[in-house]
Amino acid sequence: MRAQIDERHTSRTVELGGATVRRLLPRRDRRTVGAWCFLDHFGPTTREEAAALAIGPHPHIGLHTVTWLVEGELEHRDSLGSRQRIIPGQLNLMTAGDGISHAELAVPDTTSVLHGAQLWVAQPEATRHGPPAFAHHAELPTVAHGGWTATVILGAWGGAESPASTDTPIVGAALTTDGPASAVVTLRPGWEHAVAVLAGRAEVAGEPLAPGEVVVIGAGPDELELRTEEPVHLLVLGGEPFDEELLMWWNLVARTPEEIRAGAEDWAAGAERFGTVDTEVARVPAPALGPFARRQG
Ligand code: MN
Repeated sequence: MRAQIDERHTSRTVELGGATVRRLLPRRDRRTVGAWCFLDHFGPTTREEAAALAIGPHPHIGLHTVTWLVEGELEHRDSLGSRQRIIPGQLNLMTAGDGISHAELAVPDTTSVLHGAQLWVAQPEATRHGPPAFAHHAELPTVAHGGWTATVILGAWGGAESPASTDTPIVGAALTTDGPASAVVTLRPGWEHAVAVLAGRAEVAGEPLAPGEVVVIGAGPDELELRTEEPVHLLVLGGEPFDEELLMWWNLVARTPEEIRAGAEDWAAGAERFGTVDTEVARVPAPALGPFARRQG
């Protein structure tokens, strides 16, 4: 069955470290797509903004962060001692488990703008209390279809499989083209999928899609038509519907207010759990613990 668009959502604008980002997930009416629970589309920044980027150490629990660039370069540092530059086509995959902290910094002397996506994948109960980890994948498999090139970020797509490890049945692929392209790609019918365009304009399941919007296709269809007349960089995210109820607050993904409170207090106290990041950039303080409106940031 050929996919149709079931939902279309417009991003919210969020200020983050002096930059404006488009927040596409989560939304009150769409918390997750598979285990994907957060999607920020940032940039393209100016060159000056890219050179000044300094998101100081901040904590995470219960999630994987996926950093994906369209343009530019970033340096990741975390409390495990990782220091890793990333460029377009590569994957930085950080696992928070019970606690990690990290910083995202400009690469010295960078002359590029910065453009990309920051995504989170919720960890399931089985792994979310586990140890933190960080992996950099410099080489990801690609698949060609109908003028599109798909880079497999997580999971399997078009017969190729990402080397990155996953905790839940999930897929993430970036489809790019330098010009007109048209393909019918295969979806797993039991999974739900989202498509977001990071650059250019495409036609997804026959409907136009531009940056600042995300469309969702519920479980059922096994084919999706993707077409464009111009250069495009888009993300397809999918997975088995995630049935655990998440409580997301700031940078913490948990299940209960007590867990969130403990995370915020441990961060404020400089607890061992979150370690330290080797940088001069100041730690980001947690916002005040109010009633647990489901805030994310
Ligand atoms: Mn982070």
